[in-house]
Amino acid sequence: MDWRLLDEQYIVSTYKRLPIAIAKGEGNYLYDTHGKRYLDLFTGLAVNALGHSHPSILRALREQGESFLHISNVFLNPPAIRLAQRLIEQTIPGKVFFTNSGAEATEAAIKLIHKWTAAEGAGRAGIVVLKNSFHGRTLGALRLTRQPHVYQDFPQPAFPVYELDAGDLEELRKVCEEQRPAAVLLEPVLGSGGVVPLPALYLQGIGEVCQRTGTLFAIDEIQTGMGRTGKLFAYQHAGVRPDLILFAKAVGGGLPLGGVIAGERVQDLFKPGDHGTTFAPSPLSAALGNAVLDELLDPVFQTRLQDVIDYLWERLGQLVSRYPKLLQPLRGKGMMIGIPLHASAEEASRLQQNLLDKGILVDVTQKTIVRLLPPLTLARQDVDRFIEAMGREIEKLAAAKEE
Ligand SMILES: *Cc1c(COP(=O)(O)O)cnc(C)c1O
Repeated sequence: MDWRLLDEQYIVSTYKRLPIAIAKGEGNYLYDTHGKRYLDLFTGLAVNALGHSHPSILRALREQGESFLHISNVFLNPPAIRLAQRLIEQTIPGKVFFTNSGAEATEAAIKLIHKWTAAEGAGRAGIVVLKNSFHGRTLGALRLTRQPHVYQDFPQPAFPVYELDAGDLEELRKVCEEQRPAAVLLEPVLGSGGVVPLPALYLQGIGEVCQRTGTLFAIDEIQTGMGRTGKLFAYQHAGVRPDLILFAKAVGGGLPLGGVIAGERVQDLFKPGDHGTTFAPSPLSAALGNAVLDELLDPVFQTRLQDVIDYLWERLGQLVSRYPKLLQPLRGKGMMIGIPLHASAEEASRLQQNLLDKGILVDVTQKTIVRLLPPLTLARQDVDRFIEAMGREIEKLAAAKEE
């Protein structure tokens, strides 16, 4: 079966795909239809936090699958209620609104922020976001995604958007004082914008500005959440207190699920009829989300995770210092890592392909940044395997550049 040909014939080509058809996933590895094995350092874009076929996920899948799959929002939904309670207990006092995806979480946040301006934020309008941000691709979310090749010339909803440089606290203070926006929304580590972590001091500064000016502080944890950076949510490294937390990706244990944690200032603004969706929260996704939390909240898991994060950064750091002409300083936090190459887009893409031939899957973002989003279950041997292969590729690149 030529899956590549059939894909081209029948599926709209909004993604440039690797010509590999997947047959199976197991632990930190994927297998293609020819039985070739790949170390998965991409995890379906930070979705499969526990790798593939994790026993806790499989158990939840079977138990919930045998009970019920979908009930709609007319009934009480125990798996979702339990997940919401646990998310609140681990973050801020408030309530959860569930969605099916990240973009829908952003859409819900936009509507909630709008409700807030009508209720309490009189005279305020608009949302402050950062240059190169990514908050989703539906039209409302796209307005907040500040990457020109993503937003292009698609239609734009009319609400004001203030696009600021990451790190410029002075400008943010000025905008919050003079323009009176309703909210600031940011990713604690810009993901597709180049794996750029925001300094804790900057985040704390934003928290203070928001508090002083009464502006809502919203954090997009869609990619950084669920343990990705070493804490359950990345904002927790900085000790700030957001009003809204957007989540998705890993929260459904591999199935679609997202949402907004709405803090006390906004938790009761949506009334019946104000917003909704048929599918979310999927009881099955929520059951899997609870299984993910069971693991992430286990102190033994957390110790192991921190250990492998330290080891990965140590080994990568050694690699960078060995090849300073080819590798720029590492970026990111925890299991969200960017390795910027001093190379052309073509060389970066060839490096990705060569790693793939050796059985290692990495992503490349912003053309020349090798992006790692490994499973949180990564083992030290997996790190060794990657570092060895990456080292050989960098060596080859160095040799090619010498010629
Ligand atoms: C992936 C992502 C989104 C969009 O989520 P989808 O489920 O793809 O709609 C929004 N924000 C961030 C930070 C993301 O990484």
